[in-house]
Amino acid sequence: MSISGKILIKGEWLLGAGASFNAVNPCSAAKSTAVFRSADSDQVALAAIEAAKAFQSYSQLSDQKKANFLRTIGVELEKIRSQIVEWATWETALPEMRINGELGRTIGQLNMFAQLLDKGDWKRPVIDLAQPDRQPLPKPDIRLTQVPLGPVVVFAASNFPLAFSVAGGDTASALAAGCPVIVKAHSAHPGTSELVAGAILAALNECALPTGIFAMLHDDGRTVGTALVTDPSIKAVGFTGSISGGRALYNLAVSRAEPIPFYGELGSTNPVFLLPQALEQQAEQIAASFIAALMMGVGQFCTSPGILIAVKGQALDRLLSSLAEKTPTLPAATMLTAGICHSYQQLCEQRKAMPSLTVIACGESANADQSQAQVALLRVDAKDYLQQGKLEEEVFGPATLVVCCEDSAQLLAVAESLGGHLTAALFADTEDRELAAQLLPILQQRIGRILFDGYGTGVELSSAMSHGGPYPSSTASQSTSVGTRAIERFTRALCYQNTPDALLPIELQNANPNAIMRLVNDRWSSAAINSTTD
Ligand code: NAP
Repeated sequence: MSISGKILIKGEWLLGAGASFNAVNPCSAAKSTAVFRSADSDQVALAAIEAAKAFQSYSQLSDQKKANFLRTIGVELEKIRSQIVEWATWETALPEMRINGELGRTIGQLNMFAQLLDKGDWKRPVIDLAQPDRQPLPKPDIRLTQVPLGPVVVFAASNFPLAFSVAGGDTASALAAGCPVIVKAHSAHPGTSELVAGAILAALNECALPTGIFAMLHDDGRTVGTALVTDPSIKAVGFTGSISGGRALYNLAVSRAEPIPFYGELGSTNPVFLLPQALEQQAEQIAASFIAALMMGVGQFCTSPGILIAVKGQALDRLLSSLAEKTPTLPAATMLTAGICHSYQQLCEQRKAMPSLTVIACGESANADQSQAQVALLRVDAKDYLQQGKLEEEVFGPATLVVCCEDSAQLLAVAESLGGHLTAALFADTEDRELAAQLLPILQQRIGRILFDGYGTGVELSSAMSHGGPYPSSTASQSTSVGTRAIERFTRALCYQNTPDALLPIELQNANPNAIMRLVNDRWSSAAINSTTD
């Protein structure tokens, strides 16, 4: 399947009127023969207008039809699996197995939201029936549901070219909510983006839906992203990427004449606490499992373990020796882009030059011409860590800092110094329970997901999942970008008072034809109700 380099607006592939750029293979620096053209400001405005028009009908579409649309996108993606894998592996240097798995996850996410829509109760309807005889005043009939916000802009992530990109979790949840989506494709994988956008267009046509529901724009600069976030038709933004980029766009979103929600998933260092007894029992096993977690995706996971925290002693010495033994043979690997690799190298060099940090071990040497990253494990005393502050910042890539504490009190002080993170992991034995119990309330205020005896790298698709956390891990700590609750980012509550039954949305009508679970007069029920509002 050839790649046109075009952008997609209202079902048409158009030549972008802005600057041109090529896809680049990060391993060889070879440029694609396909030339990609950025959108210009008129094309951004056109996509936004078309999305706003499509919102009128798409927001009213039944859950069943939206579910069918999401499933059809998955079917269309499956049809072009081999082309997607070919382009994505070339553009990102990620291995075929990883891309195949990520495509499976992407389809799984679309199906998960389709299933949520099938069940019909995702709007969490609440009904408080009227009490006409209440004294001193009658109580009105009040009914609460959720409605979609409007057109959503999604910034595709560089590190998950499928699962957090064009048809990724942000797009799937926004479409499930009833919001049209405009994707700002990531300039690191524009060919993959075009293929995936083509699958979404095929699904729109198959389902006979308005083509304004989805658009995909290219840009390898900042113009398109800025124009999209500030366009008055846009009502929310989903973003995965850097703290600096996310913060700049967040500031734009909230300083508009009409501020809009900005769901940014930004940086996270994902602290791992090795409590004394667990370390004593499992120092060598922890070293092995930690290296496996760090090496996932060349350390380019938002959930990659960036800090290990433990108390000094023989057990920590065993862990450090085991790490020092295993690390030198760890292969260097190509990162997602030359720019990401350059930032990684710079940050590693800065850290290696800091007098308070010492190198535990480094992996095999990296070939800079192939944008390779060398694994880097460093250590610091907790006293110096606490004084320097900046060491908590994310180093995007396969680098980790081991923070060595004098005692448990200092370990708790390190926990208290933390900002917001997506995950924190605890390795804790039964005899560590007391310390774990002291640690948990500290982490509760700073972390989105706390896990035991493992690492946060795998993010399960589950209704109970939360992928977010206090700033800077996310710009909206009350929300999640993974799991079924991600849909709630793109809806708002709407209350109907004394509204005739026939004019209510189906989930609030007395007959409850889909027998969904509702909170009626503070009790859960799927039964029809008798009321006088019709
Ligand atoms: P990024 O630079 O934040 O870019 C993400 C997206 O936002 C891209 O589409 C980018 O456009 C756009 N963008 C960034 N800043 C912008 C601005 N000021 N105005 C308008 N648009 C803007 O992230 P990245 O390219 O994926 O990676 C760069 C760094 O981000 C990495 O080195 C890493 O530190 C961090 N990162 C972290 C995570 C995580 O999950 N924690 C994930 C990915 C990246 P262009 O495509 O034109 O650049």
